[in-house]
Parts: sequence; structure tokens; C-alpha cells
Amino acid sequence: MIFLDNASTTKISNLALQTYNQYSTDKYFNPSALYMKGASIQKELENARQTILSIINADKFDNIIFTSGATEANNMVLNSFIKYKNKTALIGISEHPSVYNVAKNLLDNGYNVKFVGLNDNGTIDINDFKSKLTDDVNFVSIMHVNNETGAINPISEINSIIREKNQKIIFHSDGVQAFGKIDVDVDELGVDLYTISSHKIFGPKGVGALYIKKGVNINPLMIGGGQEMNLRSGTENTPGIFSFVTACKIASDNLHDNYNSAVKKAHYIKDNLELIDNIRINSDNNCSPYIISFSLPHLRAETILRMLEQKDIIIGNGSACSSHKKGNRILSNMGVEQEYIEGALRVSINHDTSTDDIDNFIKELKLAINEYKKNTNR
Ligand code: PMP
Repeated sequence: MIFLDNASTTKISNLALQTYNQYSTDKYFNPSALYMKGASIQKELENARQTILSIINADKFDNIIFTSGATEANNMVLNSFIKYKNKTALIGISEHPSVYNVAKNLLDNGYNVKFVGLNDNGTIDINDFKSKLTDDVNFVSIMHVNNETGAINPISEINSIIREKNQKIIFHSDGVQAFGKIDVDVDELGVDLYTISSHKIFGPKGVGALYIKKGVNINPLMIGGGQEMNLRSGTENTPGIFSFVTACKIASDNLHDNYNSAVKKAHYIKDNLELIDNIRINSDNNCSPYIISFSLPHLRAETILRMLEQKDIIIGNGSACSSHKKGNRILSNMGVEQEYIEGALRVSINHDTSTDDIDNFIKELKLAINEYKKNTNR
């Protein structure tokens, strides 16, 4: 199989799986238990937080809360800050559904939410942002790297604009497609809250974390035994958490080598795609090299996706979480014409993607397009 849908999920690495097994068998103790074996897992949990804090260059007195994934972390953040009827939240229009749909829901329930538009390259429109940054804004959520196009938002520039306006505004960024792939330095980014997920970086599914800057208070979604500093009750998913931390270390140790090779692969893919008639590459060269969105006009993306699957080549159509939804909020807000939106596909690579994989994908894609055109007389 050639798997080119790594932005939707990845296969757990051998080392992360070993860690998972170790904390499910030999070290299965409850970290809240009073006996030594429990206490020692608790200690390891605190070290795990410090490991992630140091990978993202946070202060050691900042906090990390482990969650069931990025969706939970994002829900926690939005529900903590979009709760004042006289305040306004600014949310990027291209956010993942775990931010966008929560914001939309809160808006429908009478809270003030404004969505910030996009430039034609998929990044946040700074002028639109500035015009919406009124005195009543108390919360901003703008993702770091977009999951459909790979567009990288200028988070530190947005932070400077926010701080110039009002030091007290809480700034959150969903960093799921950035963490472990491009440099993430929360100090430089200036964020108060930053969401990450395990299964996008070769860790297990069902684990994520929320970075919380010291002094920022958020509300729990779940009440119970008071684990995770009262912010996320429930016995900690220790196999998942420690396995995630193993994946974090591997990603961090190899980040620059992997990034440089992803840049070369992304160029190679784009150079080859550009040879296809009428194709539109939706991800420009400033995007994350791990995600390449392209559109084939007058073609149904799903048909091409299934034709490739028959050849054992897996690619995505936009975001996996919203792949059954009609239309495309992100591409349409970038000003992409309708005929290109229906034919939008996404290739997302990883460090293992080889030139052979790419060559095979391009070859089969061209064959699929020709067959599609033949069958539909286009
Ligand atoms: N945010 C972004 C940008 C994502 O790509 C995803 C995964 N598709 C999520 C949030 C949700 O992550 P999780 O599966 O860990 O809930």
C-alpha cells in the first residue's frame, strides 16, 4: 500500500507501540494510587509534561494537560472562553471542525463570534483580522497549519497585533498539523494555549494535549476525581500518554532532517502534478511541505480517490473529519472556483514516503484521470 493520507492519521511507530505495551502490562499502575508503584507513574507523568514543555520551548512552570485528543482540547478551550455575552471571540474561518463547529454552535446559542477570512493562499487575512479586533474581543483562535491546504498562519505576527490591542486577550492556536513537523516555539509564537495530537505524529490514537501558559485559567469539560490538576478528570490514559511522549521525542529529534526531505518531496510532487492539464495546485510553496492540495476541474474527487484505492494508493479529499460533507469551507474562502472545489484532493506525506511511491502515485493518477475522462466523455 502507498499511504498518502498522513494528515488524517499515521501508523503508530514501533517504539511508540513498545511504550504503549510497557505501560499496559509491566507498568499498568494507577498514577493516583498511594503505593510506590502508583506514585512512580505519577512522577513519570510529571516528567512527560516537562518533556513536551521543553520540546515546544515553553517555560517549565507552564502546564500540559493530557486529553483524549485534539478535539477534546479544542472543545475545552472554546467552551472556557466563549461564555461572556458582552465579549467577542475571533475565530479563523479555516479552522478544523473541532474549533469551527464549536464556535458556530456557540454563535447559534447567542454568543458573539466573528470569523476571520482568508487570503487566496489559505492564510488568515490580516486586514480582516485587524478590522474585527474590536475592544470587546477577549479570545482569538487561529490554527497554526491548516489540515486541508497546509497553509501556515503567521501566528507570532497575529500575536503582536493582539498584544498591541489588548494584553489580556487569550490567544489559542490549534497546532495539530504543525507539531512534530515544523518548528513550534510557543514562546516565539506568543500563544496562551496550543493544541497538539498524538496520532498525527506516529503515536497512538485517542491522545492529545493542551499547552496552557502559566496564569491562564481554563474550565474542565469533565468533573470527577480531579486528575490533571482538576482540569481533566478520569484515570489517565498512561499507555497512550507515554507512547505519545515517545512519538514526540522521535519527531522532535528528527524534525529538521524530516522537514528538509519533505520540502524536496513536496517540490517533486508539485513539479509532476503541474504537468497535468488544467490542474490547480491549492498549496503554495510557503505551505507545510507535508500537505499538498490540488484540484482537477470538472472531476469528482471521490471517484478519483476510489480509482486510486483500487491500485492500493490512499490519498485524501480535504479533511477526513469532514470528507462526507458537501462543499468546502476552506477552498471557497480562498476564492477557488466551484469546478475546482469539487475536484479537490489532498496528498499528505511522511518521512517514509519514497520517490517510488510518488512516481507510482503520479502514474496511477494520470491513468485514473484519463479513464475518468473516457468514461464521462470529457
Ligand atoms: N485539528 C486539526 C488541525 C486536525 O487536523 C485534527 C485531526 N484531523 C484535529 C484537530 C482533531 O484531532 P484529534 O483526532 O486528535 O481529535
